[in-house]
Amino acid sequence: MKNKTTILISTAILVLIALSSIQAYLINNTYQLKKKAFINETTDVISVIDDNPKLDSIYNVWGENLKNYIADYKNNRLTKAQIVSRSNEKSDSLNIQFKKIFDKELKKVNLGYDVDFKINLTSVVILDDTKNDTIFSAGKNECRLFGKDFKDEDSKTINNAKWFSEQEFVEKVDGEIKFNTFDLEVKTENKIVIKDWKSIVYKRMAFLFFASVLIFLIVIALLYYSIKNLINQKKITAIKTDFINNITHELKTPLATLSIASKSLKKTEIKNNQDIFNGTLNIVDRQNERLQKLIDQVMTNSLSSKEIVLNKEQVVDNEYFKNLIEDFKLSVQQQDVTITNKVCNTEVLIRIDKFHFTTALLNILENAVKYGKETIHITIETKHINGEYIIVIKDNGIGIPDKNISLIFDKFYRVTEGNLHNVKGLGLGLYYTKQIINAHNGTIAIESQLHKGTTFTIKTPIN
Ligand code: ATP
Ligand code: MG
Repeated sequence: MKNKTTILISTAILVLIALSSIQAYLINNTYQLKKKAFINETTDVISVIDDNPKLDSIYNVWGENLKNYIADYKNNRLTKAQIVSRSNEKSDSLNIQFKKIFDKELKKVNLGYDVDFKINLTSVVILDDTKNDTIFSAGKNECRLFGKDFKDEDSKTINNAKWFSEQEFVEKVDGEIKFNTFDLEVKTENKIVIKDWKSIVYKRMAFLFFASVLIFLIVIALLYYSIKNLINQKKITAIKTDFINNITHELKTPLATLSIASKSLKKTEIKNNQDIFNGTLNIVDRQNERLQKLIDQVMTNSLSSKEIVLNKEQVVDNEYFKNLIEDFKLSVQQQDVTITNKVCNTEVLIRIDKFHFTTALLNILENAVKYGKETIHITIETKHINGEYIIVIKDNGIGIPDKNISLIFDKFYRVTEGNLHNVKGLGLGLYYTKQIINAHNGTIAIESQLHKGTTFTIKTPIN
């Protein structure tokens, strides 16, 4: 049975782990998709802005300039490096206008988040049938043509562009002026940086995150609750089995005695002996009483503290405890029991249901004897502190192991579960005591040391 529960719990935990892994995988997939969709959406918007005719015209101005520089290069008036530096100067000066227009257009579309954009120049090549002439190649370096300055590594390339142009130019060969053409290929790439894009994507997934975590927590809570219930149920079943064993045992003894007594009463020699006859009748009475008591005990204990109806009256503590101790002493005459009375000297009026309260205290005293050693010593001490009446009952008995102390007031709980025949009991005494003390708005606490003894402390408000 225990094995079955362990398997059940382990399987549940494994399934839970599998479920959360699948969920994590799905969330990650959704994240990737959302990220892609988000970047695409931004790219579309930026591309539309980039196609703006005003920006195109700025781009063209720069292009025309480049072509002129290259014509000069063809006439050996400029070097490649000079072309690059002049073209850079030109793009820097044009960029002020470019950025202004771009920002204005970006504001118009109202994206809701910040995007930086730039166009990088990647290469400028003069195409020739025989041998191409590379004027500029960015390679690993960045060369910002237009837009904001930001590092390439933080950015995303959204577009690569290439344009060709055929340009006429005037060339002086051997002092003669000639008209010639060259083909130019210019490559650029568009890059964007979306600031805080991660948090934007996360925000878009917030509901999904929240719902997943919530569902996950609910599943864990349900699982925890079910497992706890299962364990509790099993505990209750075990306790009930114990109880049935105990009560069967308790009922057997008086029933066996009754059957022997009734057989004896039928015998003529006993019928004729008045003394033995009366003695046997007394045994029948006592066993009958015992059976009645057992049944009463089970009946009373089916009530909880809320259902117990108290019939409170005022008693003087001194007198009450003196009577209680005397009556108890009478019931344990045969055993070696000493009881020390340390009830406080001042007479205090306490309001209790005499019948229930006495039974509650007697349960503790009976336990002190039942679970005592050869010589039993019980101390009853009372104190009256801050409107509370405190009763301390201490014994020098066998004590209770630490691990069992917390269960001692549970219904049907007995420490000597395996040792039924040693000391009889139903495990109801202390449960009942606690219910009664609670019904008096009081508390009961226990302290115990194995092999040394046990102390019960009861606190009840005086009014
Ligand atoms: P009954 O219902 O007849 O009182 P019980 O004595 O077994 O049966 P409780 O009085 O509720 O039941 O006590 C529960 C258990 O606590 C006992 O079985 C015993 O193991 C342990 N116990 C209680 N009082 C003491 C004590 N003074 N010293 C040692 N063990 C104790
Ligand atoms: Mg008891």
